[in-house]
Amino acid sequence: MRGILIVVSGFSGAGKGTVIKRLMEKYEGRYALSVSATTRNPREGEIEGREYFFRTEEEFEEMIARGELIEYAKYVSHYYGTPKAYVEQNLEAGKDVILEIEIQGALNVKKAFPDTPLLFIAPPSAQELRNRLIGRGSEKISVVKARLKRAAEESEYMPEYDYLVINDIVEDCVDEVHKIICMEHNKCFRNKELVSKIQGELKEMKNRLIDD
Ligand code: 5GP
Repeated sequence: MRGILIVVSGFSGAGKGTVIKRLMEKYEGRYALSVSATTRNPREGEIEGREYFFRTEEEFEEMIARGELIEYAKYVSHYYGTPKAYVEQNLEAGKDVILEIEIQGALNVKKAFPDTPLLFIAPPSAQELRNRLIGRGSEKISVVKARLKRAAEESEYMPEYDYLVINDIVEDCVDEVHKIICMEHNKCFRNKELVSKIQGELKEMKNRLIDD
């Protein structure tokens, strides 16, 4: 059975990276995490092809022109986009493919593929988000402030999402995300073959009952 495309977004500092990493570990082989292309520079420790495909603006625009991206968006003056090939291959192989992308991209995916579930991972409260951003220690207070301001703007779009998952305890959040994805598989429209098989069997049985 073909896999499902799943979009996960959340505020910077909500811990969505940790949740997705744990989900991939816990259900090894079940999920594939899409690797995006971006025009931003690699951060320390980031590896080409693992965190991102790092591209120049010109290269990225060529990818757009050739129709190689499922979606793309500009975020803090850099391009970010999802390459089509990897997603297609993995969906075809029956894996559920997770896109960890920002809101604009998420809404574009929804427009192009309306069946795609959009998950929003949020901390239990704004105060907790602030604590986590400060707790990271690596960020200057101006960066923390900028992220909180952005979170306030992004929160306007939360109602556009299909599912809200609170990340209080990571392990619980991982289980919740997995549960939601399992439920997506159970939707009737994703099980058309099974539905018509049961319908057919019952019709046959009904006819036999009449004949008896
Ligand atoms: P960062 O630069 O911190 O790695 O990512 C910045 C934002 O870009 C994050 O919200 C991340 O989820 C988002 N992002 C990463 N890859 C993509 C992508 O392929 N498309 C879109 N629309 N957003 C992405």
